[in-house]
Amino acid sequence: MAYLVHRLLVTGFPRHQRSIFYFYNYLKGCMSFNDFGLSEEILRAIKEQEYLEPTPVQQMAIPVVLKGHDMLVSAQTGTGKTAGFTLPMLQRLRENPKERSQYSVRALILTPTRELAAQVEESVRTYGKYLPFKSTIVFGGVNINSQMRILRHGVDILVATPGRLLDLVSQRAVDLSKVEILILDEADRMLDMGFINDIRKIITRLPKNRQSLMFCATFSDEIKQLADGFLKSPQLIEVSRRNMAVTKIKQTIHPVDNRRKRELLSFLITSKNWKQVLVFTRTKHGANRLTQQLEDDGISATAIHGNKTQAARTKALADFKRGVVRVLVATDIAARGLDIDQLPHVVNFELPSVPEDYVHRIGRTGRAGCEGEAVSLVCVDERDLLRKIEILLKSSLPKEVVPSYEPDPSIKAQAIPNGRSFQRRSSSRTTPHHRHRKNIR
Ligand code: AMP
Repeated sequence: MAYLVHRLLVTGFPRHQRSIFYFYNYLKGCMSFNDFGLSEEILRAIKEQEYLEPTPVQQMAIPVVLKGHDMLVSAQTGTGKTAGFTLPMLQRLRENPKERSQYSVRALILTPTRELAAQVEESVRTYGKYLPFKSTIVFGGVNINSQMRILRHGVDILVATPGRLLDLVSQRAVDLSKVEILILDEADRMLDMGFINDIRKIITRLPKNRQSLMFCATFSDEIKQLADGFLKSPQLIEVSRRNMAVTKIKQTIHPVDNRRKRELLSFLITSKNWKQVLVFTRTKHGANRLTQQLEDDGISATAIHGNKTQAARTKALADFKRGVVRVLVATDIAARGLDIDQLPHVVNFELPSVPEDYVHRIGRTGRAGCEGEAVSLVCVDERDLLRKIEILLKSSLPKEVVPSYEPDPSIKAQAIPNGRSFQRRSSSRTTPHHRHRKNIR
């Protein structure tokens, strides 16, 4: 079983309707895309993707959306969640055909990052290729005028990052008053990135009688609060890949001194002849520095993070996917949502400060039923972070000291400021939120 249905939440949301879910369909097994009542055009597009059967999140979410319910889903990237909302969204728009009017939008999908927005819009185009819908994408960092020109004639589906969408709203370049379906993808990441006020402002522009869907990696109190504010009696669905991460992915911890991590990474890549490696660092600065050091060691590498222009990020990802560069160094937020299938190796150059991000990071490998390998280089300062990750995973991870890279026992642990990187410079003039937005993306 590629994915594990972890738990269906029926508690903790007192104001919401307790839902029945569609879990039994999944347990019945052998459900096919034909069972949902999707249109011929959509089924044809799915067939071209050669999907054999709906994933668990699709089996649970598609019927809920088709019935017009609001929905709160906890599912991570790699579970097939994008098709889980895109397919029924297309079906609902098709069942209720409407003329496009100037500046109008029928379905709005908000995502935290440009990369995720691009991937979601690509999915909309893929699954909707035999339908007459017009979709477009808007995000910051690129010229706004061409986006305004497209929106002037109205679109059926708009995929947007919150900041740029608000700019467009304030310039009256888009009219959200006719939105029928709102989808918040990776809502928890949007909160982490400080988009909460933007989202609230956007929601005030939407009609009350819309359908709203919200996707997040985990149900946190903040998410519940946000959901309380704008979902109506939502159906709750939780799908976890956590157990899959533990069982399908070979995870190894290499204890090593901080100052020797780079050397060890180069050694592992060359001695094991890894061809395609995604390496996580905690900061943009760290990502740049490591990329340069790997290049100096003769290993082709490129970095992807929020300081790069959109063109540079797109090129970095394309080069990595095509195998032009061997190593992609990424920060958590930049890597979030990247659809890189069947990646053989993921390396945590530094452990993430949020334990859930560990699961997210290693979820990049071993996808589509393939086995993967996740390696973490852990120095003495990170022992606490490692312990938290092991508590989350409910298991201890195997430790393997690489000969010649034994940690020096005389080095004592230093606290990581604010639970964040020891390499990070903190500024007393910035709030934690600002620091997060400035440093991590
Ligand atoms: P997502 O979780 O939406 O990022 O999807 C992860 C990957 O799963 C994407 O590459 C999709 O093309 C793929 N995918 C989505 N649905 C299915 C399915 N039913 N069967 C096989 N692959 C799928």
